[in-house]
Amino acid sequence: MSIGEFSQRSGLSLKRLRTYAASGLLIPAAVDAGSSYRYYGPGQLRDAHLIDTLRQTGMALADIRVLLRDPSTDRLDGWEKSLEEEAVQRLSALDQARRLLSAEPDAPEPLERQRRGDLSMKKLRSTSRTETGPVRENNEDAVMSSDRLVAVADGMGGPLGGEIAASMAVSLVDAAFRGRSLDELEAAVRAANRAIWDRAGARSELEGMGTTICAAGLLEDGRLAVVNVGDTRAYLLQKGSVTQLTHDHSVTAALVQRGELTEEEARHHPHRGVLTRALGVAPDVELDSTTLSVAESDRLLICTDGLFNELADREIVESMTEPQDSSATVEGLVERAISRGGHDNISVVLADIGA
Ligand code: MG
Repeated sequence: MSIGEFSQRSGLSLKRLRTYAASGLLIPAAVDAGSSYRYYGPGQLRDAHLIDTLRQTGMALADIRVLLRDPSTDRLDGWEKSLEEEAVQRLSALDQARRLLSAEPDAPEPLERQRRGDLSMKKLRSTSRTETGPVRENNEDAVMSSDRLVAVADGMGGPLGGEIAASMAVSLVDAAFRGRSLDELEAAVRAANRAIWDRAGARSELEGMGTTICAAGLLEDGRLAVVNVGDTRAYLLQKGSVTQLTHDHSVTAALVQRGELTEEEARHHPHRGVLTRALGVAPDVELDSTTLSVAESDRLLICTDGLFNELADREIVESMTEPQDSSATVEGLVERAISRGGHDNISVVLADIGA
């Protein structure tokens, strides 16, 4: 059929058809040698619609060309994931912009603190690693670390939902926390909960997504604020001894607490990993939170269940006191979990409190 008729039947303008032809996406079936008039076959209508639909998703012409050459739905899944990630980043930046707009301009440091110059100077020096592991196909854990905040999340609810929920949790908390107070960290986690809940309700394929979160942030007064939901754990090494700062919100942890399971049995229980609390599964969430006095040379470890279900508690505790570089400790823990089977995603952050 002529280019005019093809344009009419496909709903694409002549200009757009010429663009697609010039970029090699939709080459006319024939071109009249004398008049240079272009002709298309009826079999090209589907490709025309497909190319135009893909353009509406924002896909570049070069990527469409690759997809047409190798028409697999895996590529569409990959594209969907990158769109989701981009949206998460944009929403998180928007959230931060909103917060900055409503915040008071930063007041100058009080003279007293400038003179003292001690507490507010603390920093977290972190090493982290997150691994898919040999069994799972996706990594639904997410980790963030800065010199004032570390956060680890373990997502659930299908590969796409789990990844989105976990990455939203850590990036939204990071965007909202400025180190002012425990209340601020709690509000950041509640806001992340609400954002994940809203997002899960907006798209059927994300329904049921949720995530754990364990976040620890240094406050202006030099204390450490910790907020926890789910079964991602925090341990603190202080004066030579290690304390677990968090309680797991899981079915097996409740059974252990009631004396119906031992820690060892819980590690292999078929319902391990079934949570009693998570972010994103209801409009509001109950948090565990605390603040602690910390000093230089104290050490914090946050990990997902992919680590502590493979290793004995004793091994995690001992690793924190090892006199070696923190990156070697983190590598050692993750490698050990993998060597024991690595049945789940494994994430570890080790943060030293320093000046
Ligand atoms: Mg896990």
